[in-house]
Amino acid sequence: MSVGIESVIDGVRLFKHEVFDSRKEQFSALAQGQSPQVLFVTCSDSRVVPHLITQTQPGDLFVLRNAGNILPPHGANHGGEEATIEYAVTALGTRHIVICGHSHCGAVKGLLSAPEDLAGMPSVADWLVYAEATKRAMTETHAGLEGEARLLAAIKENVIVQIANLLTYPAVFARHARGELMIHGWVYLIETGEVLAYDWKSRTFRGLARPVAEGSSA
Ligand SMILES: [Zn+2]
Repeated sequence: MSVGIESVIDGVRLFKHEVFDSRKEQFSALAQGQSPQVLFVTCSDSRVVPHLITQTQPGDLFVLRNAGNILPPHGANHGGEEATIEYAVTALGTRHIVICGHSHCGAVKGLLSAPEDLAGMPSVADWLVYAEATKRAMTETHAGLEGEARLLAAIKENVIVQIANLLTYPAVFARHARGELMIHGWVYLIETGEVLAYDWKSRTFRGLARPVAEGSSA
């Protein structure tokens, strides 16, 4: 089903000669700078394609990806997550942050699995520490769930946990508190193409709708 490196290289050639050359003006404008309004945080999973599922163009999304769409809390990790987000909201003036989990997430599966299942992946085990609250929510809130239902509940909980982590970033917290930055929790369902969004009032995930408070800024 998936392609090898030869096809990827052929794709680069095809892009240059057929896509790029027919959209030269668009790319030449992009070479002058970027001002994406949306920072899109999602998993590295190959089945999640941010520009495809949002039908957006180059220059529209500032994208941060890693295993499990995890954001280590402020000061907890020297990885690039906080720096990437700080740059987006401070230097680029990004107004929205979407944290988008997805169904069948391997990282969240790993989080729910027995420690020995991660025996050959010590770095993954270390990384998943930043989703420990997700694990706890599963035992305290969703103890009755099993199988796919349990996994999907954990994927949703993880989005909420990572929003909490995101709010520990000074650059994010202050802007969010002033109402200058909106945070969106999403879950993309690979099997149906739907996106569920976290509703802060009902504390549930529902079908995606435009934010009410956005008004003319959309
Ligand atoms: Zn994933």
